[in-house]
Amino acid sequence: MTILLLVDVSVRLYYQKGRRKFERVAVKHEKREKFFYYLVGMGIIPIFYYLLTSRIDTFRLPFPTRVRWLGAGIVFTGDFLFIWSHRALGSNWSPILEIRKEHTLVTNGPYKFIRHPMYAAIFIVGIGITLLSSNWIVALSYMLPVICMYLVRICDEERMMIEQFGNDYRKYIRSTGSLVPKLRA
Ligand code: SAH
Repeated sequence: MTILLLVDVSVRLYYQKGRRKFERVAVKHEKREKFFYYLVGMGIIPIFYYLLTSRIDTFRLPFPTRVRWLGAGIVFTGDFLFIWSHRALGSNWSPILEIRKEHTLVTNGPYKFIRHPMYAAIFIVGIGITLLSSNWIVALSYMLPVICMYLVRICDEERMMIEQFGNDYRKYIRSTGSLVPKLRA
């Protein structure tokens, strides 16, 4: 679990570097977005607390070993989607809602099927961590901030993308699902 989580953190740090070289041209709800970003980051602290100490071991969920192994597989799948999304989005990625110079609309890789593969990946990792840790403090501290953040964020993000890319993004919406692929385009 530690390795699977460190993969996510390393991927984030790697892509954070590339994005700073372009000037920012639009930003939405900056304070709210930064607040949520740090809240989600803090949600990871209990996971390391769980991994490194035994103090929250009593908050156990009754999952058998094979369900916990299934959790490991789900985290692995989520990590794969997370890395794939970061590779496709490249320097267009940002931790808050913003558009930078040279921003392009990405519709390849996982973006061919869904508009928010990175958020989907973060949810998938959360489900996997819940099963794998079998601990409800870990599950809630990860999932609650993530769910609140993305429920609020997705609408504003799509509005910002329409302002920037107009009909291209409207057309893109028609051919893709938000978090799960559309069965029929
Ligand atoms: N919601 C996407 C991206 C998350 S990163 C996902 O879940 O994969 C957030 C930033 O990505 C936003 O500030 C926006 O500028 C940018 N973005 C979102 N969708 C994009 C797309 N299809 N092409 C290019 N940039 C995109």
